[in-house]
Amino acid sequence: ESRKRGETPCAYSKPMRDALLRRADLERSMEGALEHGEFFHLVQPKYDVTGTRVLGGEALVRWSRPDEGIVGPDEFIPLFEQNGFILRLDEFVFESVCRDLRARLDAGLPVVPISVNVSRLHLHRPDFLSTYVRIKDEHGIPDGLCELELTESIVIEDLHGMFDIMDSMRRAGFRCAIDDFGSGQSSLNVLKDLPADVLKLDRDFLLEGSLPGTEETVVRTVITMAKELRMDTVMEGVETPKQLAFLRTTACDMVQGFVFSRPVPPEEFYRLLDTVAPD
Ligand code: C2E
Ligand code: CA
Ligand code: CA
Ligand code: CA
Repeated sequence: ESRKRGETPCAYSKPMRDALLRRADLERSMEGALEHGEFFHLVQPKYDVTGTRVLGGEALVRWSRPDEGIVGPDEFIPLFEQNGFILRLDEFVFESVCRDLRARLDAGLPVVPISVNVSRLHLHRPDFLSTYVRIKDEHGIPDGLCELELTESIVIEDLHGMFDIMDSMRRAGFRCAIDDFGSGQSSLNVLKDLPADVLKLDRDFLLEGSLPGTEETVVRTVITMAKELRMDTVMEGVETPKQLAFLRTTACDMVQGFVFSRPVPPEEFYRLLDTVAPD
C-alpha cells in the first residue's frame, strides 16, 4: 500500500471534485451569508404588451459573495433545496419584498403586485402559510399585493392537495401563480381544476427550432384557455421584438423578459412606477 493516508484513488474526476468542493464551500458559508446581508433580491418588471405600463414585478434572489461577486440562483437554489436552507432564504426574500412595499405605502407612492418564488419544500410544512401570513401582516400589506409563484412541477406532483393549498393561499389574501407552465408534461386540462390567479407561460414556448407556426398556435391556445378560466397570463423570457409582435396579437396580459427589462435593484424597479408613461 504505497498510497498515503487520506489520499483517495482517482475515483472522482476533477470536474466532479470541483463541484463537491464548491458545494461544500457554499454550504459552509450560507448561514453567515444570510446574517451578513450577502443575499438580496432584484425585481424584474412585468409590463403590459405595449411596454408602457408596469403591472407587476417578480423578486429574484442573488448572492453577493465577498471574494467572488454576484452568484445567481441556479448555482445555489438546487443545493438549498436539498439541505433545507431554501426555507429561510425564501422567507427572507418575502420579508424584504414586504418591507419595500410598506415603505412605498407609507410614502403614498404607487405599488403593484410583487411575486416571490416558493420552493416545493414549504408545501410540506404545516406552518408554511401561517408564516407567510405573519410576515405579510407584520408589514400591514393589503390583500392582493403579494403573489406566490409555484412551479408547474410542484403543482403536478400533487394536483389534489394543490387545490386546497391554492385555495387557502387566496383566502389568506395572496395571489397565486403557476410558474413555468408548459415546461413539463402537464396538460391544459389541469388548469380548469386549479384556482390560480395567474398563469406564467414558460419561456421554452418561445424557443426557435419548432415547426413554424406551431408554437404560436400552442401559445395562443393556452392564453385563450387561461383567459376563459379568468387567469391573468404572463409570457416569460420574451427577448425579441418579433416575439413581442406576436404576443400583441394574443390576449396575453403581461410580458416579462429582457425585451423590456432585466431584473433590476428594487429602487430602480420602483422608479419605473414613478415615471409617468407618455401617452
Ligand atoms: P424563474 O422563476 O422562472 O425566474 C425567471 C428567470 O428567467 C430569472 O432567472 C430571470 O432572470 C430569467 N429571465 C427573465 N427574462 C428573461 C429573458 O428574456 N431571457 C432569458 N434567457 N432569461 C430571462 P434567475 O433570476 O437566474 O432565476 C432562475 C431561477 O431561480 C428562477 O426561475 C427560480 O426558479 C429560481 N429562483 C430565483 N429566485 C428565487 C427565490 O427567491 N426563491 C426560490 N425558491 N427560487 C428562486
Ligand atoms: Ca418564478
Ligand atoms: Ca418561471
Ligand atoms: Ca424557468
